[in-house]
Amino acid sequence: MAFSTLGLCDALLKTIEQQGYTAPSPIQTDAIPAVLSGRDVMALAHTGTGKTASFTLPLLQLLATGISAQPGHVRALVIAPTRELAAQVAQSVENYSANMNIRSTAAFGGVRIEPQIFALEYGADVLVATPGRLLDLHNKQALNFEHLEILVLDEADRMLDLGFIDDILRIQALLPNKRQTLMFSATFSKEIKMLAKSMLFNPVVLEM
Ligand code: AMP
Repeated sequence: MAFSTLGLCDALLKTIEQQGYTAPSPIQTDAIPAVLSGRDVMALAHTGTGKTASFTLPLLQLLATGISAQPGHVRALVIAPTRELAAQVAQSVENYSANMNIRSTAAFGGVRIEPQIFALEYGADVLVATPGRLLDLHNKQALNFEHLEILVLDEADRMLDLGFIDDILRIQALLPNKRQTLMFSATFSKEIKMLAKSMLFNPVVLEM
């Protein structure tokens, strides 16, 4: 299997080559075409499997048409359970969008909120955030979800373990119903299946 068979655009194939990736991992082989098709996706994937690229690459491609970074309007939101993961995913988004006209930023707790507000005022197509800081930013009217097209829940099982379920449900209530939702989890527990049922519409289910 080669990256070139997955339906990715030239800008992304160039980035992948620059990253030194020679072949897609199993989760990438399955998730990239599923995300590009516009379907919701529920994927069982552990850290280290290449899961970040499996949602970031197609997400960037879906956003690449009609770029419109506007103050406070994000088009894709990635929610991660910890600041470390949020920072890491944001770095991946930054790396993978190197050859595209897409702006991204990260927002997590434990640091001052003002620079994050400024970054959103400047305009970001992609926001990677932890649940609590995301709600703080929304409460401060630093962002709205009117233009949101894609939601990603990364490490959803850790999100539940850390007690973020109420925050997640609160965030979901702020988002447009018409959106594409991708959920990644290292386990398919009963709780994860229930969360998936409430957040995803007819998802492609990938179990690696
Ligand atoms: P992740 O599972 O998303 O945390 O990714 C684990 C590591 O694998 C990261 O350092 C990526 O840069 C790297 N990686 C992702 N996809 C590939 C690939 N297709 N080939 C080689 N390395 C990759």
